[in-house]
Formats: sequence, structure tokens, C-alpha cells
Amino acid sequence: MRIVLLGAPGSGKGTQSQRLVERLGIPQISTGDLLRAAVARGSELGRQAKEAMDAGRLVEDSLVLGMIAERLREPDARRGFILDGFPRNLAQAHALERLLESLKQPLDAVVQLEVDSRELVRRISGRRSCADCGRVFNLLTSPPLGAGAVCPKTGAAHRLVQRPDDNEATVTERLRVYDEKTRPLIEFYRARGLLQVIDAEGDVDEVTRRLAQALHAPALRTPRRVAKRPARRAARAPARPARKKQPKRKPATRSARARSAAQRSRTRRSAAPRRGKSARGSSRTRGTRRRR
Ligand code: ADP
Repeated sequence: MRIVLLGAPGSGKGTQSQRLVERLGIPQISTGDLLRAAVARGSELGRQAKEAMDAGRLVEDSLVLGMIAERLREPDARRGFILDGFPRNLAQAHALERLLESLKQPLDAVVQLEVDSRELVRRISGRRSCADCGRVFNLLTSPPLGAGAVCPKTGAAHRLVQRPDDNEATVTERLRVYDEKTRPLIEFYRARGLLQVIDAEGDVDEVTRRLAQALHAPALRTPRRVAKRPARRAARAPARPARKKQPKRKPATRSARARSAAQRSRTRRSAAPRRGKSARGSSRTRGTRRRR
């Protein structure tokens, strides 16, 4: 699948992208991560991008487009990809469309993650990431706990750091830039029939479920979703003759149970000295059956 995740800073694009990567087996391509890596390497691209990033402005299109064109040509992107933080303005969206046309890999879906602006600021102020593995946490909503507190790269506790552009002044500018430059992409993709909008507030797992639904990706459904099935069956109630048959089956089942219980009791009496533990096990199983 070729997916674009749209949303303001702090809307959870990165967190949800990581979950899609695990479940769909396609790479997350985050222009923010690529740019931060370039800055950390001290490359020419990083040097040119740093000033805009520190101020919360968009990095020049030519730099971002060159970087993304190169990344999308890498072999792992042939199976699909999740674009996180790109495109971020109309010029980038048009350029992406042309690039994917030339690669014969059109987008399958664009999902907009909707979050209230006060919640965005709250989330960004609590955001931390591991300096070693890059995993993103939130001190308020998803701190590193239990088995997740250990960094898979170092085997020690995650070393949590805050992004330099997650300070209050830069965040305000990033949100302004989002409204001015990125929000128009919602209409751009709606007009192309690609847009899905989901509520990205609330429980992170719940947002993942909404995202899966929007992408029509059954592979993303978690066990909890499967557990909801009885409710859906109830909605189709008229087509359930099986229920009517139950009273007829009951007496037969009970008498069969009584017969087999008597038989088991006989068998147990004769076999008890040899069976020990397994006799206890079978009595537990019977208890379960009786309760049904
Ligand atoms: P967030 O979505 O939380 O703002 P990102 O990691 O996506 O964070 O981006 C961090 C910064 O990197 C942005 O504020 C911007 O300066 C730069 N950046 C990322 N993606 C783009 C892009 N597609 N075009 C221009 N600048 C970008």
C-alpha cells in the first residue's frame, strides 16, 4: 500500500506510522526524520535545512523533493510506503503526484489525523524519543513502561531526549505553518477521492483501529477488534435459526452429559490410582463444561 498520513505536528503521524510499519511490513518515510539525520550527519543538506527547522518553518521544497525522490527509488519502497510529514504544501503534493506517476506507483490512500489544537500543544510538550532507537514516547500519555522501557538497541533503559523544535515558541510557529501551508492538502486529496479523515484523539490503540478501518486493512485489526464480532452478529439477528434449535438440543446434551459423567466417574474410580495429575485436570475441564 502507498499511504500518506496528513496531520498537524503532534497529531500522532509518527506513532501511527511505526505501527503500520510493524503490521504492513512497508517502510515509513518521514521527511522530518530524514532531515534530522542530515543535520546530525552535518551534511550540506542538513546545514541548509537546520535554520528553517529550528525556526519551525518549512525547509525549501527543492531540498525536500530531491531527498524524497531518492528515498522513493530505494528497493524497499517498491512494496509500498507510508509518507509521514510529506507532502506539506501544494507544490510538494503536485511534485509527488508527478513523481509517483513516473514510477507508476500512484497513492492508495491519504489519511488525515484530526486533533484539537490544545491537545496538540499538550502532546508536543510531553513528547520524548529514545536517542538510541528513535522510538517516540509521551511522558503524559505513553511513557516507557514494562518491557517497553528497554531499548532494543542498547538493552538498557531508553535515553529520552526532547526534540529541539518541540519548545513552545517553535511549536506555535509550526502550528501556524501547518494551517497555512499543509491544511489545503485536505481539499487537494479529497478532490482526488483519496482522503479519509479520522479522529486521532483518545487511546493510541483505538486510533490505530480507526486508521486500519480507514485503510480497509484487515491485517491491522487487533485481537480486541475481533472480540467485537458478537455485536456485529447480533445486528444480523433475523438470519439466525440456530438459536431456535437450542432448547431442543439442551435436554439431549444434559442427558448425554449425565451419562458421560456417570461413565467418567466409573472410569475414574477404576483408574484413579494410576492417573494422578491428569484426573485432576479432567475434573477441571468438566467443571467448565457444566458451567456453560
Ligand atoms: P512535526 O510533524 O511534528 O512538525 P516533523 O518531524 O515532521 O515534525 O518535521 C520537523 C521539521 O522538519 C518541520 O518543522 C520542518 O521544518 C521540517 N520538515 C519536515 N518535513 C518537511 C517537508 N515535507 N517540507 C518542508 N519541511 C519539512
